[in-house]
Amino acid sequence: MIEFELKRTGMLIVVSAPSGGGKSTIIRALLEADSSLDYSISATTREPREGEEDGREYHFYTIEQFKQLVEEDGFYEYAEVHGNYYGTPREEVDSKLEAGKDVILDLDVQGSMRLHKMVRDCTTIFILPPSMATLEKRLRGRGQDSEEAIQRRLENARGEVRMADQYDYILVNRDLPETIENMKTIIEAQRFRASRMVVRDGFGTVLAPQA
Ligand code: ADP
Ligand code: 5GP
Repeated sequence: MIEFELKRTGMLIVVSAPSGGGKSTIIRALLEADSSLDYSISATTREPREGEEDGREYHFYTIEQFKQLVEEDGFYEYAEVHGNYYGTPREEVDSKLEAGKDVILDLDVQGSMRLHKMVRDCTTIFILPPSMATLEKRLRGRGQDSEEAIQRRLENARGEVRMADQYDYILVNRDLPETIENMKTIIEAQRFRASRMVVRDGFGTVLAPQA
């Protein structure tokens, strides 16, 4: 009996939310639960927050280091967000895809749209807070940003929410475990997409996609 074999190529999952929307918390839970997922660590020129480590949450760069990588075409995309630069190093994504992982990225709206246009095989998910009042409460509760930073993030949030319909999926992060489950469902479904599959027969001959 000849058995069919399916081989799947890695995919990119881009998550956006207004600051305080719950992205980091949700992504952390997904990474803990799913060893096929890996996280693309962005580069940023912002100062590390308390508890953040270089090479874990971000690669913390000086403006000069960041500009150097821009000149070397080392980013898939980069953007100025809340007064700092953030970018997706090509090396981060490529090495993880080559290692057979699905790569999850936490990008702002501009970065997500740019990556979506550039990389066909990219799933974008927007996480909405239940309300602006809840967003403000969560930002304050996190206790990591100055009053000025909180105000700037809330102001930006209004514009970001208007872009939600540009994404493939929208979730409202009301109940955290429920949001995490919904994210898992989306990722799992994406893994079965035919466009990402190579079908071989038992002799290794590729049957689909046809050349
Ligand atoms: P982001 O990475 O999008 O800026 P965080 O993951 O840091 O957001 O979340 C902001 C704060 O809100 C954190 O203190 C987090 O624990 C809390 N939070 C996230 N999701 C929920 C939720 N569904 N209910 C209550 N608190 C939440
Ligand atoms: P924070 O400073 O709260 O960690 O992140 C601020 C914003 O920058 C968030 O909206 C986050 O999604 C975005 N961001 C983080 N890394 C990147 C990146 O590599 N590219 C882009 N375009 N945005 C990013």
